[in-house]
Amino acid sequence: MTTTSTDPGPAPAPRTRSWQAWGWEDSAASTEQTARLASALAGRFGIEPPVAEEPVALADVTLRVPRIAPPDTLAHLCSTEHRDRAAHTYGRSYRDTVRLLRGDLPHPPDLVAHPADEDDVVRLLDWCGSAGIAVIPFGGGSSVVGGVEAAIGDAAPGVVSLDLTRLDRVVDIDRVSRAARIQAGALGPVLEGQLRPHGLTLRHFPQSFEFSTLGGWLATRAGGHFATVYTHIDDLCESLRVVTPTGVAESRRLPGSGAGPSPDRLFLGSEGTLGVITEAWMRLQDRPRWKASAGVEFPDLGSGASAVRALAQSGLFPVNCRLLDAGEAMLSATLSPGAGALLVLGFESADHSVDVAMARALELCGDHGGTLPAPPSSTDSGVPGASAEGGGDSAGRAGRDGAAGEWRNSFLRAPYTRDALVRLGIICETFETACTWDRFTELHAAVTTAVEDALARICGAGWVTCRFTHAYPDGVAPYFSVLAPGRRRSELAQWAEIKAAASDALLAAGGTITHHHAVGRDHRPWYDRQRPDVFASALRAAKSAVDPAGIMNPGVLIG
Ligand SMILES: Cc1cc2nc3c(=O)[nH]c(=O)nc-3n(C[C@H](O)[C@H](O)[C@H](O)COP(=O)(O)OP(=O)(O)OC[C@H]3O[C@@H](n4cnc5c(N)ncnc54)[C@H](O)[C@@H]3O)c2cc1C
Repeated sequence: MTTTSTDPGPAPAPRTRSWQAWGWEDSAASTEQTARLASALAGRFGIEPPVAEEPVALADVTLRVPRIAPPDTLAHLCSTEHRDRAAHTYGRSYRDTVRLLRGDLPHPPDLVAHPADEDDVVRLLDWCGSAGIAVIPFGGGSSVVGGVEAAIGDAAPGVVSLDLTRLDRVVDIDRVSRAARIQAGALGPVLEGQLRPHGLTLRHFPQSFEFSTLGGWLATRAGGHFATVYTHIDDLCESLRVVTPTGVAESRRLPGSGAGPSPDRLFLGSEGTLGVITEAWMRLQDRPRWKASAGVEFPDLGSGASAVRALAQSGLFPVNCRLLDAGEAMLSATLSPGAGALLVLGFESADHSVDVAMARALELCGDHGGTLPAPPSSTDSGVPGASAEGGGDSAGRAGRDGAAGEWRNSFLRAPYTRDALVRLGIICETFETACTWDRFTELHAAVTTAVEDALARICGAGWVTCRFTHAYPDGVAPYFSVLAPGRRRSELAQWAEIKAAASDALLAAGGTITHHHAVGRDHRPWYDRQRPDVFASALRAAKSAVDPAGIMNPGVLIG
């Protein structure tokens, strides 16, 4: 008997997640890719091609000695291992990435706790509560707003980073109501992998999907990459279970309820300040079978925006409706000469063909000056639940070709590219907001001007681009990206000035300080200006009721 035809060969080597940069170590930009990026930037900014800075090795990073030790009963759940503490020190914002690159980690957590179940979470919180130790819930650690950083000053004698990723199971599926009870530490692919055999999907695909968790999404009110209707995690949440320092809060499973203010809405977006979300019943969807996608070009951003408004108000609800200005399109997709904006448009359904919806959407685009450089693509997998979504997209073949496909590939690679840019000394920040349609034109102009002025003043050059991430009948969520040549070792001071200029301009123009990236520590000054004072008092009162010792993520959101 021969075994050669079925021999699977050696098992692939396990992949290692970087403690220092985005994602998998083996997916980082190569030396050649980084060099190509350097010469492109040199051309763009009129500078010498920058040289990539070598990341500090983990062995050369000094961490403060842990100031606390767990009781014997919890010691098996707690780690003081060097790599573990370093990997739980920051999230993955631009600022975090610069500090990690240089091994600048003055505030590591004293311990990293890895609870295996909810009882462990309760026992850890009891210990921390009685000793006044701060607790920072940690999901995937993809926060871009300083949400998991243990820089709490003297608010507590020590800090525990509570890593929830061992709570990663889909515990129960209710096929009739199409919902599932899912543990909060499940990373995107882990969660989807357990739903797939049932032909179901949560269909929540933030760009950070691969390295962020259900609990993190709920705690930050994350936005998936779909543009309309079921895209916000809030709307997919049926009920929540939260361990607070004073007890467990579990809401009733209901499709809707008018019984007073919603308990779920108190904890959604609470960013680890009120308790630890341990599991949630989530509304699911059947996996899509019919898909259609198109790239529509517009003469300028304004005409593209009018088309997106018409689409958002049409009741067609495209899943993808991402308008890219010319700069964004240059970075991530193709645009015909003379075109000023690209709309990546997509529809999908598990129930019916979407060709009619696409045809009507294209008519609306045509009314606003949109043209189609290539015909739309559409697919019917023929098999319910057969199509793949893969890391943040559910577009099957439709959506993987042409401009839509180019945009998708670049979207998935973007976090790795950002790490390379940081090594090249380039300041690269993104900031996102939302405003009503009546304010969009003014907000876009004011923010672009404010940031361009800041870049010219602070960096001598720079580039601001804009795309839409979400579209609503009454407004839109513009997402700005900034690239500028930084001064080595001064980048963070330069970044802070640019960030402040952008944030001030957003607020002054009537936008929100964040549409889906959350508040964390970085957005606090602007959040404090945005939210009503009476609401802040109510939130503080709620916090002191569930967290009387103030141990939960001090400094974030409130407190
Ligand atoms: C490259 C990149 C792309 C991104 N794309 C998107 C995007 O498309 N859409 C979007 O919305 N965001 C995006 N983000 C931001 C980030 O991924 C989200 O905020 C995400 O929801 C965080 O999930 P996490 O599991 O990584 O949470 P973490 O970063 O670990 O934590 C975030 C916050 O939630 C709290 N928290 C985490 N888990 C729990 C829990 N179980 N209970 C209570 N509190 C908890 C933490 O204390 C912290 O305050 C992106 C970030 C990066 C780096």
